[in-house]
Amino acid sequence: MLQFYNSLTRKKEDFIPIIEGKVSLYTCGPTVYDTAHIGNFRTFLFEDFLKRVLVARGFEVYHVMNITDVDDKTIKKSMTEGKPLSEITDYYTDLFKKDLSSLKIIQADVYPAATKHVDAMVKMIQKLIDKNHAYVTKDGSVFFSIKSYKNYGALMRINMDATRHSDRVSSDEYSLDNPQDFALWKAYKEEDGDVSWDSPWGKGRPGWHMECSAMSMAYLGDHFDIHCGGVDNKFPHHENEIAQSVCAVDTPFVNFWLHSEFLLVDGGKMSKSLGNFYCISDLIEKDFTAEEIRYILLNGHYRTKINFTLEKHHEAKVSIRRIQELQSRLKEMNSEICDGFPTEMEQFNIALENDLDSPNALAVFFEWIRNANSKLDKKAFTESDVSEGLNFIAYFDSIYGILPKAGFAPKDVIDLVGEREDARQNKDWEKSDKIRDQILEKGWIVKDKINGPKLTPK
Ligand code: AMP
Ligand code: ZN
Repeated sequence: MLQFYNSLTRKKEDFIPIIEGKVSLYTCGPTVYDTAHIGNFRTFLFEDFLKRVLVARGFEVYHVMNITDVDDKTIKKSMTEGKPLSEITDYYTDLFKKDLSSLKIIQADVYPAATKHVDAMVKMIQKLIDKNHAYVTKDGSVFFSIKSYKNYGALMRINMDATRHSDRVSSDEYSLDNPQDFALWKAYKEEDGDVSWDSPWGKGRPGWHMECSAMSMAYLGDHFDIHCGGVDNKFPHHENEIAQSVCAVDTPFVNFWLHSEFLLVDGGKMSKSLGNFYCISDLIEKDFTAEEIRYILLNGHYRTKINFTLEKHHEAKVSIRRIQELQSRLKEMNSEICDGFPTEMEQFNIALENDLDSPNALAVFFEWIRNANSKLDKKAFTESDVSEGLNFIAYFDSIYGILPKAGFAPKDVIDLVGEREDARQNKDWEKSDKIRDQILEKGWIVKDKINGPKLTPK
């Protein structure tokens, strides 16, 4: 049984979707005012991992990831750069999507942008006002009244009675009678430049929490299966989302809340001044491949902090290489194709079913690799062992996505293979043999199979 740790109940629970066989998934997306960093991608990769495990288990997943393209930060950036908001947010949205695909993150079904859903937000805010869960302030802002929702604080286990008359819960920048109330709609201020929408309460823009409630419900319905984000999103963002969504529709909002822990760099917070603030492009410049980044970021449990260091590059390379070498050995054996899997796959699945225990699943997989290699050395691998082994590697990679598609030979070797193919097309056998020797000198064997040339390490 698939189990996830639900941040709301603080327990591991059996995962049963609302509609059998289908999963509705909402993940908080980026605020597109700057390039996303590897900390953000730790969270996005965890969500990709979750989705891949669900798909491998046969679920049909409908995934929504929002794009926060209007908030204080995006507006500030557009003002300081003197560019229209959409120019800034389009640029960073494109960059974000390029990084997602370069990291082999499976695309969401839809990436709704907040600015395209303001109508839905206005409707939801009006509903909350009509039901006395929200009120309009003098300047034309709208606030959610925390005291109108008795379960406020359930996600963070905050006792609102104890905090009600203090300022421990962060208050919004707009001054209020009750400092804990949060903004659903922010009245227009000069700093907003030309960013505003009309509403029944005057010109303004939606609050960030409202964006996620309205967009998740627009695409997934009032009540859906899983909502994810990084731990920093728990409060106030998700706590506020729950309050306003539940009060607007009077149904439960989300069944499972999953939060991933932070990524540290060199043991601390990543920082530009320390020179260890990395975006995906920075790592690619340092010769990291997407697969190596995936390996490093998935090599820790999502609920524990992981520490990124450049030194982990080597370990990632070696680990991926071990898988590829076994895969090559097995492919070389050209066995009959069968459907089965090695018995170790059961342990692998059990680890994943246990709240996505990625490090444990990796340990099971690498132990299997070690045993498989020693069995191969002893020539104790049967035809079906070979085929089952290849199936296990393919299954593993459908979840981890850490095996490069285009072979793993260095670029110069791949280029030589291309040149050799040209020579063979021209029936220049002498040249083709010469290139084969050059490839061999570089440590690779090229063999001509029916479906094209195959490279294996010497
Ligand atoms: P933002 O663009 O700031 O809204 O962040 C996008 C996602 O990245 C959110 O789910 C955050 O919780 C997550 N996030 C931000 N910083 C980190 C970090 N250092 N480690 C892991 N996740 C992070
Ligand atoms: Zn959100």
